[in-house]
Amino acid sequence: MLDDEIKKNISKCSRCALCVQNCPIYEIKKDENNTSRGLICKLSGYEQGLLKEKDIKKDLKICLECSKCATNCPSKINTTKIFAYKNAHFSPSKISQRLFLSIKLLPIKILYFINFFKPTKKTSLETEILYFKGCVAKAQHKTTFLDEILTQGDFLCCGLPYLASGDLKNYNKAKKNNIELIKKAKKVVVDCASCKSAILNYDELSNEDKKKIIFFNDLLKDKKIKLKNNSKYKNKTITLHKPCHMNKKDFDNIEKFLSNIENITYKRLDNFDTCCGFGGSYFAYHPIIATKIALKKASTIKTSKADLILTACPSCTMGIRYNQLISFNFKKTLELRDFINEELVID
Ligand code: SF4
Ligand code: SF4
Repeated sequence: MLDDEIKKNISKCSRCALCVQNCPIYEIKKDENNTSRGLICKLSGYEQGLLKEKDIKKDLKICLECSKCATNCPSKINTTKIFAYKNAHFSPSKISQRLFLSIKLLPIKILYFINFFKPTKKTSLETEILYFKGCVAKAQHKTTFLDEILTQGDFLCCGLPYLASGDLKNYNKAKKNNIELIKKAKKVVVDCASCKSAILNYDELSNEDKKKIIFFNDLLKDKKIKLKNNSKYKNKTITLHKPCHMNKKDFDNIEKFLSNIENITYKRLDNFDTCCGFGGSYFAYHPIIATKIALKKASTIKTSKADLILTACPSCTMGIRYNQLISFNFKKTLELRDFINEELVID
């Protein structure tokens, strides 16, 4: 039997197929079994006893968990939750679940190990505004302008890797810890689009609490920003890849911010919204599908002729670098936070 949460969400599906046309996996495989609508139909068949576990397991695993279906669903079905719960429900064993999660978290663990002795600077000018620093930035022990002006909260991981691998125990633990801190804070500033989307997915947060979660570039709205005199990007062209988990409003704000920087040209990427194909550990499990998605992105990056590609999610940063590797188009790719830190002056 399925969880009540899944059943409630499944029952809302009108079978309209808007999710199908936006699914990067469907674009490659042209198989509706792997789309949100297909998965919902199958789970519904399973619930009614028409399908057995073995009939649906294979198709359930192929989803990239990019949330594009959730973003485009008129019935507001929380597909992220459905796919997370199905991972917990249909996972063949605890051992394989753990293995899946270990692969997912391996790059972060390696970064922690490499940077273990690097000091982390903690200064705070604003105490009620907390910084939700993403796991990769924490593992790199990077100190940026955000560390200078914010207090790093004692947040745990946003929980997305746990949720995606079906480890609901650790997901709920991280969520509980983070919610307590968010409720006490005046604002929470996030530096990764996927973390922000995972936090906004916490059911227990009220709408008021959700309004406190802001993307870091919002802090810079009224500031005077200019390119450093010695910046290597003076008179160059930059562009922005939109992570699947980034909402359009944040993307528009970042575009506006980048367009206002003097002595640099911002050019919108064709198909800025298409997936980079990396999807955390997805690449390790489905390299052929991931590479086919990546090649599509790579061709738009190549034709953009941008000198620098920016994004705001460490998984996408790796994905865009992989795109460039397979298309022999070696351009610099940076996290937006690092670009601001290294190349801009904030007054
Ligand atoms: S967009 Fe939503 S309602 Fe429409 S088929 Fe997909 S999941 Fe169902
Ligand atoms: S999460 Fe992404 S890959 Fe998975 S069904 Fe939805 S759109 Fe397709």
